[in-house]
Amino acid sequence: MKIICFSVLPVEKPYIEDWAQKNQVEVKILSEDLTSKTVDQVKGYDGVSSEGIAPVGEDVYATLEKNGIHQLAIRQVGYDNQDLAAAKKHGIVLTNVAAYSPRAIAEMGVTHALYLLRNVGLYQQRMAAGDFTFDEQTISTEIFNCTVGLIGAGHIGGASAQIYSALGARVLTYDPFYDASLEPFTTYVDLDTILTEADIISLHTPLLPSTKHIIDAAALHKMKPNALLINMARGELVDTAALIAALKNKEIAGAGLDTLADEGEFFGEQQDLSTLPQDYQELQALPNVLITPHVAFFTKLAVKNSMEIALNDAKNLINGGSSRNIIH
Ligand code: NAD
Repeated sequence: MKIICFSVLPVEKPYIEDWAQKNQVEVKILSEDLTSKTVDQVKGYDGVSSEGIAPVGEDVYATLEKNGIHQLAIRQVGYDNQDLAAAKKHGIVLTNVAAYSPRAIAEMGVTHALYLLRNVGLYQQRMAAGDFTFDEQTISTEIFNCTVGLIGAGHIGGASAQIYSALGARVLTYDPFYDASLEPFTTYVDLDTILTEADIISLHTPLLPSTKHIIDAAALHKMKPNALLINMARGELVDTAALIAALKNKEIAGAGLDTLADEGEFFGEQQDLSTLPQDYQELQALPNVLITPHVAFFTKLAVKNSMEIALNDAKNLINGGSSRNIIH
C-alpha cells in the first residue's frame, strides 16, 4: 500500500514516519499543498492525505478519480475549503479528524483571554517605551469574577467550558445542540444573553452560512465595553471591519484572534511586514489585540493524533473498510 501526504511540515514528518513503519505502509511526504498544480503527483498511489485552508477545486477530485483513488483524509477539523458535492460526484470519500486534541485549541483561547484580561499587551507596549507604571487603564479583573460566553460548544467549546469552569468563571453557552454532559460546567442561554452579559466571548462554531459574521456590527454593539472577543475558530465568523471599528471606538475592550478572514494570503509563511493587508496591520497595531497565526492546534499531542487518525482512515478506506470520520 502507498499513501501520499501533502502539506507536511518538517515537525510533522517523524510522526508520519513512525506510523508508516508501524503499519508497514509506504508514505510519500510532500511539503506542497494539494492543488490543481500538484495533484498529478498522486499517480501510482493508493491513497491521499492533505491539510490546509486553500479552496480545493473539482479538478483535484477528478484527478484523484482518474488515478483510481477513492478517498482523501484531511488531517484537520475544518473542511469548509472542500467542495463536498464535487468530491461525491467523483467518488471521493472525505474524512476529517474531528477531535485530535480539543484541549489544545481551548487552552490557546484561554491563553488569549488571560493575556488580554491582565492587559499584558498594554504593559509590554508601555515598557517598550520605558514606562513601567500602572494605573486605572491597566487595572484588571480576576477570571473567577468574569462571565464567559461560549458560542458553539462541541469538541473545543466543550473543552473550553470545562477549563473556564475550573478557573471559577461563570460559563454561559449558546449552541442550538444541547449537550447534557456539559451541565456541570455551563448554563445554556440564548445568543443575546451571551452578547449582553459576557465579559469574555469565545467563538467555537464551524463556518456555516448561519455563522458567517455571527459577530457583526450589531452584535459588537450589544457587547459590554469591557468585553473581550476570542476567536479560535474561523476568521469569517467575525466582520473584521466592524471589529476594528468597535475596538477603535472602545465599544469592546479587546480581541484575541487565532484566525482572520484573509489569513490564507499570509499566515504560515515568512512575510514582508509592509505588504500585509491593511486590516491585519490595523489590528496588529492595537495593544488590546492579540493575534496568533492559526496555531491553536499546534501541540505535540495534537500533531501526533491528527497524523495517526488521518492515516488510519486512509488505510482502512483503501482496504475497503469504513471510518467514523467520514464527512457526509
Ligand atoms: P464541533 O463540530 O465539535 O462543534 C461545533 C459546535 O458549534 C457544535 O456543537 C454545533 O452545534 C455548534 N453550532 C453550529 N452552528 C451554531 C450556531 N449558529 N450558533 C452556535 N453554535 C453553533 O467543532 P469543534 O471541533 O469544536 O471546532 C470548532 C471550530 O474550531 C471550527 O470552526 C474549527 O474549524 C475550528 N478549529 C480551529 C483550530 C485552530 O487551530 N485555530 C483547530 C481546530 C478547529
